Amino acid sequence: MLRRQLLMALLVPPREKIILVHEHVLVDFVGADAIVPGRYDADEVFRLALPKLREIRTLGCRRLLDCTPNYLGRDPKLLKRLARAADLDIWTNTGLYGAREFIYLPAYAKAETPEQLARRWIAEWRDGVDGERVRFIKIGVNRGPLHPLDRKLVAAAILTSKATGLTMAVHTGDGRAALDQLEMVQASGLATNKWVWVHAQNEKDLTVHERVARAGGWVEFDGINRAGAEWHRQAVGYMADRGLLRRVLLSQDSGWYHVGEPGRGKFDGYAYILKEFLPLLDREWRDQLMWLNPRAAFGA
Ligand SMILES: [Zn+2]
Repeated sequence: MLRRQLLMALLVPPREKIILVHEHVLVDFVGADAIVPGRYDADEVFRLALPKLREIRTLGCRRLLDCTPNYLGRDPKLLKRLARAADLDIWTNTGLYGAREFIYLPAYAKAETPEQLARRWIAEWRDGVDGERVRFIKIGVNRGPLHPLDRKLVAAAILTSKATGLTMAVHTGDGRAALDQLEMVQASGLATNKWVWVHAQNEKDLTVHERVARAGGWVEFDGINRAGAEWHRQAVGYMADRGLLRRVLLSQDSGWYHVGEPGRGKFDGYAYILKEFLPLLDREWRDQLMWLNPRAAFGA
């Protein structure tokens, strides 16, 4: 045990500062039509999540972006309690999730215009949600070519980003959907560095990532886990060889408390990337990938 701790201390020096840009504390996949308050016990989630968050705090993590959108279990109050208890900065978001064929969209999202949706999200930024600030935009779209409803969410996110300065992180089905977004962002006049291609690992053709990075977008490889480690290591290497590490974000899309599912309280936590994946990369890249880039993408 002592030897292991010593080894960890050598691999991840305690002064190191890390930001995890895509994780989840809890997710409820029941669907927008069925989601209601009271489907989980917030005290239970708090009790189970806190040790996982404390663990990464001791490993150098300073901030975690909780990417659970509204209608999927976003709970800013719970996040705030956990942030205080774990001494960790935890950010929440505004936006809506259209992926998985729109089952997480409330009815109003189908009826309203991009301007109307943006007005709702800008109001959340201005007024906060449950007394907490929202710090980024998180939306979700399906595979490309983008469906009109997906395009509406992207258009609303662009309007919101322009009005608030918040960065838009977009759960994206594949490279085609990413290129459709890039085109929309460029046509809108929004700076491409306000847009994050989330789940970039869904596209295996790395020339697409290269193209997005060269155009100034953020390429987020966030499926890091034991099974996917080698692919992610190679993808980061590909970007490094082309001088594009300054456009890359890394995270795990991990967690989380599964509301209403069997084994709901058994979640994986967030330490894998810190303990096992980062040591596979060039030590020189770490500050850029895990601290400078997240701050450049989402704000300091
Ligand atoms: Zn996610």
